[in-house]
Amino acid sequence: MFNDKRSKKVILVAHCILNQNTKLDRCAHYPGPIKEATEILFHSGCGIIQMPCPELLALGLDREVEEGANPTVESEDTRIAIRMTGAKAQSICQEIVNNIIHQLEEYRKHGFEIVGLVGINGSPTCGVETTWTDNEEHEAPGLFIEMLLKELGKRDLSIKMRGIKALEPGEAITAVKQLLRG
Ligand code: SF4
Repeated sequence: MFNDKRSKKVILVAHCILNQNTKLDRCAHYPGPIKEATEILFHSGCGIIQMPCPELLALGLDREVEEGANPTVESEDTRIAIRMTGAKAQSICQEIVNNIIHQLEEYRKHGFEIVGLVGINGSPTCGVETTWTDNEEHEAPGLFIEMLLKELGKRDLSIKMRGIKALEPGEAITAVKQLLRG
């Protein structure tokens, strides 16, 4: 089964790696995809699974910012980190996690390789090595990635993860290449 042209390899990416339009206001650094990291992914032969953007689904594109407010990006990230711990946001994240786990189990069942996951470091939600709380970047996964790790652990499903930042293309290229090398 599945002995056609497919590579039988898949990689998960945070939504905004392929679509910067979903970013928090003032935080998009490319018109569309994060170019350098995406080019490597496109040439890797892996199928790219674009995970939904949890913040967009939970808080909307404007992250429910107060009308007329002019917050700093840092204070917005802190506000978002708090809002993403709310019941509605947590339930939306859990729904996304369940959907992703279902897909991964299907791929695993049929012998596909799950090459890894590329997240966004410094994001309160999709950070891998670092997240954002209390106006600071911390070494810990974001809320959504933490939830995903917990569910993966329950199912004995482990996948390699790396975080990148749009503002650091050199480091992003290295991280994605390392992930693809295994
Ligand atoms: S890091 Fe995650 S929550 Fe933030 S814009 Fe990207 S996909 Fe959405």
